Amino acid sequence: MAELRFDGISKAYQGRLAIADVSLTVPSGSFTVFIGPSGCGKTTLLEIAAALIPASSGQVSLAGRAITKPGPETAIVFQHHNLFEWLTVRDNVAFGLRAQGVKRSERRLRASKLLADVGLIEHANKLPRELSGGMRQRVAIARSLVLNPQVLLMDEPFSSLDYQTRRVMQRYLLTLWHHAKATVVMVTHDLDEALALADQVVLFSGSPGRILEVVDLPLERPRSPEDPQLREIRSHLRQHLEQEVALGEFTAAELATFDREGMTADL
Ligand code: ADP
Ligand code: MG
Repeated sequence: MAELRFDGISKAYQGRLAIADVSLTVPSGSFTVFIGPSGCGKTTLLEIAAALIPASSGQVSLAGRAITKPGPETAIVFQHHNLFEWLTVRDNVAFGLRAQGVKRSERRLRASKLLADVGLIEHANKLPRELSGGMRQRVAIARSLVLNPQVLLMDEPFSSLDYQTRRVMQRYLLTLWHHAKATVVMVTHDLDEALALADQVVLFSGSPGRILEVVDLPLERPRSPEDPQLREIRSHLRQHLEQEVALGEFTAAELATFDREGMTADL
């Protein structure tokens, strides 16, 4: 059981409220996606969930226990991977296991298994600089999963990648998630990415960030963009985002970033 709960989380920076009273349950083993305008506090919420920074009020708990300090039960992946450039791909993935005292043969085995899941086993002996952006980000995700975290937090992990590469990454991510059985929270700016991956999409308002809506997606994966149920949810989310633009919560330019390559024309 690794249910992640946000209870009345607020956060102020220098007296200015960045997040206002966010309460949310992320069920054990589920995949939750955060969508919201830039500056609404998504990164801040993930950092609070990982106990990298404190909340001003409220609490985050994992399996019923308050999270008060960073620990191996939670892994976080940022937009810009921070791989060790002097270590091979396999050693990057195995890195965290060394600190845990796992012996070398076992480290190699576990790293290789994850690298196979992300299609990089042939690149295991390369250095990060020899890989493309998408491959490097796959290494970063594999590296964070090697310690078998209960919770995986990802902050726009694919946003610097092109559309096609993102689609491929989503498939790898689903495989990893399936094997890891972790509770996942991911921030994205890509509505189609949210729809492809999420069990629930959480829509945030502009600053200070509040939850506007939580949308459930009780759909099998892999999902087809043509699935009528998915299209209905997409259209609902799209309409909600448009309302937010009308209310001044988002700018139209921001809305365009959420729905760049999608099916806008037929909605
Ligand atoms: P998002 O990830 O949704 O774009 P952030 O969590 O990065 O939003 O930021 C939320 C708000 O908090 C923004 O207004 C941002 O300027 C502010 N903020 C974030 N980190 C800090 C910090 N360390 N000090 C002061 N203000 C911050
Ligand atoms: Mg952010």
